Amino acid sequence: MKLFIHRKDLRTEDLHAFDYLQNQEDESLHLFIYDPFLLRQGRDKEHSGINFLRHAAGLARQYREAGKLLHVAHGKPAEVVDYILGHMEGNIDEVVVHRDMTPYAIERDRSIRKVVDQYQAKFTQLTDHLLIDLPRFADFTGKSEPYKVFAAFHRRWVEFMNEFPNPPSVITVADLKISKLSIEFPDSFRVPAALMDVEPAEEPYGLLDAFLKERIVEYGEHRDEYETYEPSHLSSYVAVGAISIRRMYDAAYRAEQPDEWIRQLCFRDFYLYRAVYESHYFTYEKVYDLSPLSDYHFERWCKAETGIPIIDAAMTELNETGRMPNRLRILTAMFLTKNLQCPFPLGEAYFRRKLLDYDNIQNRGNWLWCASLGENAAPYFRVNNPVTQSEKYDPQGDYIRKWLPDLKDLHSKHIHQPREGAIVDLKASRQAAIEVYKQILASRQKD
Ligand SMILES: Cc1cc2nc3c(=O)[nH]c(=O)nc-3n(C[C@H](O)[C@H](O)[C@H](O)COP(=O)(O)OP(=O)(O)OC[C@H]3O[C@@H](n4cnc5c(N)ncnc54)[C@H](O)[C@@H]3O)c2cc1C
Repeated sequence: MKLFIHRKDLRTEDLHAFDYLQNQEDESLHLFIYDPFLLRQGRDKEHSGINFLRHAAGLARQYREAGKLLHVAHGKPAEVVDYILGHMEGNIDEVVVHRDMTPYAIERDRSIRKVVDQYQAKFTQLTDHLLIDLPRFADFTGKSEPYKVFAAFHRRWVEFMNEFPNPPSVITVADLKISKLSIEFPDSFRVPAALMDVEPAEEPYGLLDAFLKERIVEYGEHRDEYETYEPSHLSSYVAVGAISIRRMYDAAYRAEQPDEWIRQLCFRDFYLYRAVYESHYFTYEKVYDLSPLSDYHFERWCKAETGIPIIDAAMTELNETGRMPNRLRILTAMFLTKNLQCPFPLGEAYFRRKLLDYDNIQNRGNWLWCASLGENAAPYFRVNNPVTQSEKYDPQGDYIRKWLPDLKDLHSKHIHQPREGAIVDLKASRQAAIEVYKQILASRQKD
């Protein structure tokens, strides 16, 4: 028998593991583990944790509706696997998972592999969450060094996808031979009721269909107009694997004018690719000397008390809903790292808790870009002015009115302007940031 463990793939159709299992003769046991490490420090009460829990509940519901059994447990993944393999007394000969590239996930899977080896079973890791197959892409490009910047990667990625499309699979959980065997977990692995007492997430395909039918055509031109234009809103599904990235690509490919949106899917692949090939991806804070920066203004940024209306409006939306449009993520991140001279890991960690769509690799890649660190980064002298950006993308200031109702009566000419007592002077802090980041970039340690 096989054991399949769901992780960041909280759906029941179009998974590479399902294709793999369908080709096996054996039945499989299916398991989802609530990993306390991923819900530590109260994350289960924050937007990012709640999104994860709602999708875990959605997964359980999908299994139930298909009449299939999903086992759920709470505990360290390697210990849960050890328990099941022991309990099954040699009847499990293979454990199947989808690969994940974060440092924690790599360590976690090393521990699982150790356990699986002890039972002389096989540990199979499949790749599911990228559009490209990394080794095949490396062969295709014929480059000895991986791409460092997005533009060059994107060009080859488009060619690769045209030549080797990665179509979605039609296999669903209903097609699999899933064992009906029940497993009695000891109390120590029982899932705390509070973690399951959440509203299961809705399915994503209505959102995808509506976006492709109604809005993708205007994406390229209007995506930054955060108050009047709505992008797909699929990232909170993508982050936990509740929608298949192949299906998104495939459906978009057949839509009208999809290129700019597909380019964003490529961005996502790019950060996953960099996380694998860029040795410092998760350790840049040690590669640069960030000591000229400080956390002095951090709390006021978190609390939406900077006195710069668009920054405070965006942080209010984030705090209240877990959402923030991409353009405003760029503005708030640049404002924190540059104008407020705060180390990027603080902002990154704050987004980790607050974003509904939090994804370690995507979040880090984007924060590094905004902070002008790493290989693919905004030039250090690029410090967006939040006031002029606000005037440009939301001239009437309606977004600010929505999230900062105290300012709702201000005329659109004034609403974007810094409030009295604003945390910094934009011009002076921009100049100071340029000087400091010049110094930080020069401090980069040699490889
Ligand atoms: C500082 C900062 C932090 C971010 N943190 C995250 C994060 O934790 N999780 C996350 O999913 N995205 C993150 N992003 C990227 C981006 O803001 C969101 O993916 C996007 O806003 C999601 O909205 P949407 O689903 O409507 O996307 P759409 O605009 O409809 O795009 C479609 C899909 O493309 C992908 N995508 C779009 N933009 C990006 C991008 N810049 N980088 C990588 N993938 C992208 C997402 O999967 C998205 O769902 C961050 C951006 C910044 C600047």
